[in-house]
Amino acid sequence: MKIGILSFRSSNNHASKEEIRIKKEAKLAGHTSRIFRASRFQMVYDQHSPWLLYDGKPFPKYDVVITRPSVLKNVDLHVALIEQMELMGVPLFNDYHSILKTKNKIKTMQILDHAAIPIPKTVVIRRPEDIKQAVKSLGGFPVIVKHPVGSFGSGVIIVESMRGLQSYLLWDKPMYLLQEYVKYSKGKDIRIFVINGQVVGSMMRSAKKGEFRSNIELGGKGSVVDITPEEANIALRSVQALDLKYGGVDVMRSKAGPVVLEVNSNPGFKELEGVSDSNIAGALVEYAVEYAERRTQVNGGSLNGV
Ligand code: ADP
Repeated sequence: MKIGILSFRSSNNHASKEEIRIKKEAKLAGHTSRIFRASRFQMVYDQHSPWLLYDGKPFPKYDVVITRPSVLKNVDLHVALIEQMELMGVPLFNDYHSILKTKNKIKTMQILDHAAIPIPKTVVIRRPEDIKQAVKSLGGFPVIVKHPVGSFGSGVIIVESMRGLQSYLLWDKPMYLLQEYVKYSKGKDIRIFVINGQVVGSMMRSAKKGEFRSNIELGGKGSVVDITPEEANIALRSVQALDLKYGGVDVMRSKAGPVVLEVNSNPGFKELEGVSDSNIAGALVEYAVEYAERRTQVNGGSLNGV
């Protein structure tokens, strides 16, 4: 099989540890793989093939593409490339629609809540007049403020007072999410990695001293954890609700039971593979092959290329 890895890292950055791991596992399983850099594609619209050029040449035929959309800004513009591949019939995952759902925290919360998946109480506000009522409904301070778009903990802050909150919300953004602070968790959450409707790995993430956010990028550390059937269940349901083929679900243990904080459509797994014996890259490759085979049976072959 020919497995493509669509990387959104900038061209002058080295391949990520995850991309290298996927390549290694693909090779071990007897497949060829190649990392494609999003910035080196051209999309062409002239009613004729090819619609997609890579380094100026027609995008070669690949059996399956694993997307790694590590984009934080202008998400709709960047993921148009994934949509372009879908329009050409390239078998790929995660797809354009599911990625968009996870890149916007409002959309994610909306979908999870609608699917009756427990989340911390969240209020989206659009004007200063609503701050007081929102904070009251969240049970008072501290509250968590989130920008609708952001990753790696950036744009997620904890606010202890009304004075702090009012001075932070500058209304240079169209809206903010205010969220109940899950105090019980004490800076810990659980990352649950799901592929094709199965939990393939999990770890506890603990925030570094003096920090409430447990993101690995902010110095959080992973450790072994046994997840409960309820935690596994809400992680599986979250990935399904967002139509993801694979995802990383962040779950916090609250007094009232587990709550989902966010679902990542291009989760890192370097720390997870380091602290547990899970082979996430291998599981992704295995699923990619299964996905490509299933698509071939349904479509009688992939349609991309010229
Ligand atoms: P990002 O997408 O930037 O990682 P998250 O919503 O996952 O944003 O928040 C980043 C981190 O902040 C979480 O992993 C968690 O450690 C902490 N956090 C987020 N929301 C809450 C909350 N409601 N209560 C307590 N801690 C939170």
